[in-house]
Amino acid sequence: LGDPWSEKLLNYSDELGEPLSQDLCPMNIVVKSKKAVTNTVRIQRADGNVAELELQTIPLIDHHGRLQGVAEIFRDIHHRKIPSEYRELKLAASRDALTSIANRGELESQLRVMTNRNNSHPDAEPFSLIFLDVDFFKNINDTFGHPTGDQVLIDVARLLQHETYSGELVARYGGEEFVILCPATELDQAHRRAERLRLAIPEAKIEGVPNYRITASFGVTEVEPGDTPESILKRADEALYTAKNTGRNRTVTRQSSDSPTPEQLAEEEAARESADPGAIPPAG
Ligand code: GH3
Ligand code: MG
Ligand code: MG
Repeated sequence: LGDPWSEKLLNYSDELGEPLSQDLCPMNIVVKSKKAVTNTVRIQRADGNVAELELQTIPLIDHHGRLQGVAEIFRDIHHRKIPSEYRELKLAASRDALTSIANRGELESQLRVMTNRNNSHPDAEPFSLIFLDVDFFKNINDTFGHPTGDQVLIDVARLLQHETYSGELVARYGGEEFVILCPATELDQAHRRAERLRLAIPEAKIEGVPNYRITASFGVTEVEPGDTPESILKRADEALYTAKNTGRNRTVTRQSSDSPTPEQLAEEEAARESADPGAIPPAG
């Protein structure tokens, strides 16, 4: 109200979470063409969840054919009457078939919206990411059978969903690996959340393995300037790797400013050794 309009105002992105450039922003298209358009766009709500909206952009033309303004009408597609088959298909595409929680595709798409938002608004609230991997899961399959292993994954997914807030996204990243996206959460807070989950997992009653204490290892990181979905997942995975290598059933945090891990030092050392000592540096 009282502010000039800008496409940054609502931070529109397309259906895949890619931010809409100035040229592709419906408002700018309609100002030029003076013709109404309808698009499906995404915006991020204040609670961090992504809303998918139908956006109708309509030119307001006066008696002389001059453009006097543009109206934008937003409709929440989730509340719109759309064929149930379409809704079911869309839901199925974003869900993991075994556990029914979000799948990796859905996680990456939400993560892209969140990193884009934090990069274009440096004063936006930070968010954190928790990466966890069940310890010695192969043993469970080998000892109790694959169907019991599947049941453990279903029960762990349900536990994570119960123990997290509604604004948080719990996703199955693959195999026995899960990721939790925590909007408006700093590293310390995310570390405490991970510890709470870590302590809850062995207490959970898992069907089929009543006397087996399941544990998991956790890697936690907070968004940093310039992060992409890949870079933030990599940092959390590095922390998880350290948790695995230092005894499992642990939570490790990692930020870029931390000193390198022993694994990173070993990698750098290996890279130095494999560099060709006889190579001639390029001229200039
Ligand atoms: P670590 O503590 O190092 O994580 O050991 P781990 O045994 O958990 O890890 P590893 O990566 O060696 O084994 C993961 C196993 O998870 C191997 C794979 O067969 C099993 N797995 C992956 N997806 C599924 C699934 O959907 N159902 C079942 N039952 N097992 C799965
Ligand atoms: Mg694993
Ligand atoms: Mg594992």
